[in-house]
Amino acid sequence: MMKSIRRIPPLVAVLLSGLLACSPQPETYHQQFLAFGTLMDLTIAGVPTAQAAAAGKALEDDFAVMHQAWHAWSPGPMTRTNALLAEGKSFSAPPSVLPLIKVSQRLAEQSDNLFNPAIGHLIKLWGFQSDEPNRPRPPPAAELIRQAIAKHPRMSDIIIDDFRLRSTNPAVQIDVGAIGKGYGIDIAIGHLRELGIDNAIINAGGDLRAIGRNGDRPWRIAIRGADGKGVLGYVETDGDESVFTSGDYERGFTWEGRHYHHIIDPRTGYPAQGTHSVTVLGDDATTADAAATALFVAGPDDWPRIAARMGIKDVLLVDSDGVMHMTPGMQQRLHLFDDGAKIRITPLAEPGP
Ligand code: AMP
Ligand code: MG
Repeated sequence: MMKSIRRIPPLVAVLLSGLLACSPQPETYHQQFLAFGTLMDLTIAGVPTAQAAAAGKALEDDFAVMHQAWHAWSPGPMTRTNALLAEGKSFSAPPSVLPLIKVSQRLAEQSDNLFNPAIGHLIKLWGFQSDEPNRPRPPPAAELIRQAIAKHPRMSDIIIDDFRLRSTNPAVQIDVGAIGKGYGIDIAIGHLRELGIDNAIINAGGDLRAIGRNGDRPWRIAIRGADGKGVLGYVETDGDESVFTSGDYERGFTWEGRHYHHIIDPRTGYPAQGTHSVTVLGDDATTADAAATALFVAGPDDWPRIAARMGIKDVLLVDSDGVMHMTPGMQQRLHLFDDGAKIRITPLAEPGP
């Protein structure tokens, strides 16, 4: 079903454009810091400034620890884990990575391995485990990609026995680039609540979780455009909600006129085709992050099935022709700025086995 959408008054559009988080009221506290290679933006409402600032400092420290622990190539707990997984022996898991590996296993299984953080080899082969992911370079040789996918690395190859890990497949290398931000935000929200803060947004470059409200108003969350520039609309959240977007504009490089982006289809070994961006509304940030990546790979035809399996209710997928596929719930909640957008409303598939 193709539909046109309601028009947002230009004044509102002007007020909202450029905002990636919220509409602050005077008493909101703001803090920014770098983590996971992005500018984190923390907004806290409803508590004295000193309490908010102390919480901000605590969160900055948390994110620094998580960034170091889960980094895919700078030496630390994750690189050590990957080296030991490749050896195939049993070893005691670093505590900073074990819970993230467990939740990644579950979400990989639910996504039919379209979210597959065991493909670290492939991501490295494409040159995305690098401080210069956008540097122009030739794509990897087809034969190397074929060899990498032929080994079928899966999270289910990792055997967890209490606190010990072992991989039955030496090709497994963990890269949590598609889930770490969400998992980190969930930990940080838990910490904020322990510090007595119930109204806040933790925003990592447009991916965020919002809790509570902004004074007497809901939080207003801007949704990034499919090309990564500007804002295509907004939703309001009241309570606890996560909004995550995966897009082909985030990281990528051009070689001989072709663009290669960073979201890899584990079935082909190449950047996933057919999708521009996916925005997911979910309860926890961990699931929303993994699901945005999985649905990007699933593409315009298969996303309703994978979303249902992952327990995601509301989705917006912009395909490579610019058509906006969305759930009925997303259509109700999303205030779009472009009233000429082509929209296709698709309910989720019934969850399969
Ligand atoms: P995101 O921006 O959350 O979609 O995550 C993308 C990042 O996750 C990439 O930069 C890679 O590090 C990693 N990645 C790419 N493709 C996949 C995939 N199919 N499953 C899991 N992780 C992936
Ligand atoms: Mg993700």
